Amino acid sequence: CGIVGYIGLNDTKEILLNGLEKLEYRGYDSAGIAMLNEDGINLTKVKGRIATLRESVDNTVHATMGIGHTRWATHGVPNEENAHPHRSASGRFTLVHNGVIENYQELKREYLSDAMFVSQTDTEIIVQLIEKLFETYQDSAEAFRQAMSLLKGSYAIAMIDTADPDNIYVSKNKSPLLVGLGDGFNVVASDAMATLKVTDQYLEIHDQEIVVVNRNFVEVQKLNGTVVDREPYTAQIDV
Ligand code: GLU
Repeated sequence: CGIVGYIGLNDTKEILLNGLEKLEYRGYDSAGIAMLNEDGINLTKVKGRIATLRESVDNTVHATMGIGHTRWATHGVPNEENAHPHRSASGRFTLVHNGVIENYQELKREYLSDAMFVSQTDTEIIVQLIEKLFETYQDSAEAFRQAMSLLKGSYAIAMIDTADPDNIYVSKNKSPLLVGLGDGFNVVASDAMATLKVTDQYLEIHDQEIVVVNRNFVEVQKLNGTVVDREPYTAQIDV
C-alpha cells in the first residue's frame, strides 16, 4: 500500500516512521521498517497502527539507510509474518512491495520448489527469487534486474542488499513510485507526501525501469540496462 525509503547520512528511523505516518490516510492493516547498519538488518513489523510500530522500534539502533511499508493485504491475512519488509532465506536481501504479483505461483513452481517460506504473501516470492537468481549471477543488481523481468502484475519495490550498504534498488510497474533527491541523501516514496518534509525534488519512474538509489546519486535504467537521463520536477507543497 505505501512505501518509503531513505539513504543518506542522518538517522533513518524518524524519516521512515514520519513517512509512514503521512501515508496512513490511505489505509493499511500492518506496517514495518528495516534499517541497515554495520550490525546488519534491524527489522520491526507489527499488525496495526504506525503508533504501534513506533513503540516497537528499537530506539538504540542507529542506521543511515532503511525501507518502510504500510500493507494492504492481498495475499495472506494481516499479521506480523505477512507484514513487510520481507527477507530472503539467507537474510541477505530485504524488500518491500506494493501491488499484486500475478504469476507468483508459476515463479514459485519454476524457481523456488525447494525454498522455505515464512509468509503467505506473493511478495516473499520476489525476495526469494532475487536470492535464487543471485546464486546464478553473483551480482545483486543483475539478480534484481532478472527478477524484475520475470514478474507479471503490479509492483512498486524497494530492496536492500545487506552486503551493499550504499544502494537501494527500486523498480515499479503499474504501481506508483518516486525517487526524491536531496543533498547527501535520496529517498524513495510511493507518494511524495511521505517525504516532502525532506525534499521537494522528485524523479518520475516509468514502468519497468530499474533505479539504483545511492547516497550521492540516482541512476535510472531501462530493464535492458540502458541508462535513462531524466530531469527532476518540483513537487507542490500545500500545507
Ligand atoms: N500483495 C502484497 C501483500 O499482500 C502487497 C500488498 C500491498 O500493496 O500493501 O502483502
